[in-house]
Amino acid sequence: MTRKELNVFKKQLLSQKVLLLQGISTKMKGSPKPGDPEGGDVCDIATSDRERELTLRLSERGREKLKQIEEALERVEDGSFGTCEQCEAKIPKGRLKVLPFSTTCVDCKSKQEKHRKLYEGASDYALARDLGSDMSKEDED
Ligand SMILES: [Zn+2]
Repeated sequence: MTRKELNVFKKQLLSQKVLLLQGISTKMKGSPKPGDPEGGDVCDIATSDRERELTLRLSERGREKLKQIEEALERVEDGSFGTCEQCEAKIPKGRLKVLPFSTTCVDCKSKQEKHRKLYEGASDYALARDLGSDMSKEDED
């Protein structure tokens, strides 16, 4: 991926972040602020200390989304953006355009989901865990 393409995704992610925070900000005020909605006020939200305050007011779901956006922005910075964290394959750009905070390719994502369903539904998961207790010692709290 070229630097230019990365910048496009970065802008997309930043605007999603601003929208998320702006939504909270608008709710707090009761009505949208008159004036230019895409002017300095937006930059203010993304950079000022108010961001922290607004984050605290996000729903759990909103916070989760914000976290995903933040992590995607970090991946843009460290150059791992667009690479599957499971198999290190390149994530198709079409997928990134729809879900810029994807961390895995479609293959790994569907494997992950199958895996999760398997464990969620399996009654012998506890048994499997007990049998594997030697291996999972380090995972214990
Ligand atoms: Zn993958």
